[in-house]
Amino acid sequence: MRWPRRRPGRRRPARARLRQTSAPRPPIVGRLLWRPSRRSPRQRLREPARAVLTATAAVALLAAVIVPTSTVMITDARDEAATPSATPAPGLMTPAAPEDDDAPTPSPGAIDLNTRSIDDPASIWVVVNKVRPLQPVDWAPGDLVTVDVTSNPGGDQMRAEAAEALHRMDQTARDESGQGITIVSGYRSYERQQSLYAAYARRDGQAAADTYSSRPGHSEHQTGLSCDLQQPDASCSVCNQFGSSPLGEWLAGNAWRFGFVQRYEAGQEHVTGFMEETWHYRYVGVDLATWMHEHDVHTLEAAFSLPDAPDYP
Ligand SMILES: [Zn+2]
Repeated sequence: MRWPRRRPGRRRPARARLRQTSAPRPPIVGRLLWRPSRRSPRQRLREPARAVLTATAAVALLAAVIVPTSTVMITDARDEAATPSATPAPGLMTPAAPEDDDAPTPSPGAIDLNTRSIDDPASIWVVVNKVRPLQPVDWAPGDLVTVDVTSNPGGDQMRAEAAEALHRMDQTARDESGQGITIVSGYRSYERQQSLYAAYARRDGQAAADTYSSRPGHSEHQTGLSCDLQQPDASCSVCNQFGSSPLGEWLAGNAWRFGFVQRYEAGQEHVTGFMEETWHYRYVGVDLATWMHEHDVHTLEAAFSLPDAPDYP
């Protein structure tokens, strides 16, 4: 395994190194304890299972060659942890020891990324992108309601849970940013997206349209979980200056509290296939949005260890 990179000139006390190296890790079935790692969240989730196999293999080997137990335990512990049957010593359940003050702060929020489907169009975790169309492509939600925010000039709708969260976010945004939310686009049907995309492709060409508009069946707006937002004065409608308005800045820092994520961030174009859209927010629920916020995860593709989706197949 790879230990977290440490700042030069700082060494962990020998006792701490020994304890981290030799102590059995607690069983973490169904939970993800934050450990600095380049591996993806989903890969980390699979590690307890892998550790069980590793431990089983070690026990079998033991019976065959009769090696002192402690040697095997240390080997296992170095291999990312977990002798699952071991009872953790008190205090070792805490991910960060006091001397780990330069390690990332352990997250109080653990999440099981397998609890909801990313394929079912009715799941609030469904991942839709250029390589993952909705299935069926003309799927439509059954629980659309008209969004109640400061301004909804087009009478836009979203799925009930997302609309309720957006309503609460609007109330708080008014208090904390001084600006209420205007929604300029919510749910869009397959047919609506078809005509929008066709119009953009006619105007700008298909290649250009593909950088900012989804082909029908590939739009997050069709899930009923996404919305395009703008500030009240409408000086910037679906344009990225929105990101530096009081409301845009507040949303970027606080939308996670209400279960929303900015879906298309700058610097993630190679992953999402879309240019930055500071106005486009996607509801994923508070658990996932909080986890992404705390762990600095910027796309749903990264959260679920999915392939990048820069282009249509
Ligand atoms: Zn949008």
